[in-house]
Amino acid sequence: MSEKADSELVRRQNRRVVLETLRHAGPMARIELGRRTGLSPATISSIAGQLIDRGLVQPIDEAPASEMPQKRGRPITRLDLNPAAAHVLAVKLSIDELELVLADFRGEVGRRIVLRIPTYEADAARFGATVAQEIRSFLQAAKVPARAVARIGVAVQGLADTHLGTVVWSPAFGARNVPIGGPIEQALGLPVSVANDANMMAEGLLSLDPQRYGGTTAVVFMGYGVGMGLVIDGHVYHGPTGGAAEFGHMNHIPRGPLCRCGRQGCIEAYAADYGIVRAASEMAGSARPSETAVPEEIMLGLEEAARHGEPRARAAFEKAGEALGFGIARLIALLSPSRVVLAGPGTRAMALIEPALHRSIADGVVDELRRNVAIEVVPLSTDMIVKGTIDGLLRHLDRDVLAAGDNRQPLETLG
Ligand SMILES: [Zn+2]
Repeated sequence: MSEKADSELVRRQNRRVVLETLRHAGPMARIELGRRTGLSPATISSIAGQLIDRGLVQPIDEAPASEMPQKRGRPITRLDLNPAAAHVLAVKLSIDELELVLADFRGEVGRRIVLRIPTYEADAARFGATVAQEIRSFLQAAKVPARAVARIGVAVQGLADTHLGTVVWSPAFGARNVPIGGPIEQALGLPVSVANDANMMAEGLLSLDPQRYGGTTAVVFMGYGVGMGLVIDGHVYHGPTGGAAEFGHMNHIPRGPLCRCGRQGCIEAYAADYGIVRAASEMAGSARPSETAVPEEIMLGLEEAARHGEPRARAAFEKAGEALGFGIARLIALLSPSRVVLAGPGTRAMALIEPALHRSIADGVVDELRRNVAIEVVPLSTDMIVKGTIDGLLRHLDRDVLAAGDNRQPLETLG
């Protein structure tokens, strides 16, 4: 590598570190930025100058003198991300629902709407164009021109092909291989990424606490389905086409109950809401899972019955814990994660699920491996999917677009 290319690489890395530090820790003085990044005052000064010139960073208010007693009377200018530098748009697609959320460069959420939109019966060839039209109206109402949006991220239940931008299979769609990214890119002329919603949850956790979740962490989503977002060495792992970590569709028992994916015996067929309801009822394992989500009041009723000792309900939650536990045991043997995080509305019934879950992990993997893994439950709402999508979009901007260099003029495209 030439010396010139080498030093450009270093500058790029430094710009990225400065942007990411301001993003995670908020506004701070240059001296503090230097302390946190380990960069010299001269380097900080030069990078800050470049980022201010490009409109990505702005000098803001002066810290009160009391914060810096040793420099009483000398106001300190802090640096902050410029919220107007770019916008990103998160699109969450679930069964018969489309949620659109606009955020600024600081990650602060502006306009947000939830639309009822038929997904299950939708015509696969036209669906992407319909979403694009909704985005266009949404941006008009928000008075944000499309060119001010740097990137759109779509989070979807089920299996998303990150490379093609299609929804390969999802409980939200009757059709397979629904094109989403391409039609939106064509209609609006903006870059679009499409990803699985549980992966976006992992992005959200990663931004929330990079120290805690930045190693190798598996986030298990429990609710209408069973999903997983996998953080490996600090990055969400999507696999070559986005199909990685389909934990819910790992086989638990060959030829077991029917799963929503069409196969038999998947973990989800035992541990998703519909699997628990089916096991607790008189329905056979071969009964076709319902296309719609199980209403919350049905799950609440079932949890209540199990708490009062109703045997079928108790056994159904135990079976769910067992399927999850053996699945997690396999995951531990394979990847040795430092944390397994259980999240989603299904964790409401954790007290009913947990004993069988821990027993099955203990039965499924040797103690020496198991003891290194922290298993925790976080009450994450589905909002975490939107937050993770926004965080992922901004991280992509910081790392791959804005840090790239001042020979480009990214703001021209950002509006
Ligand atoms: Zn399945």
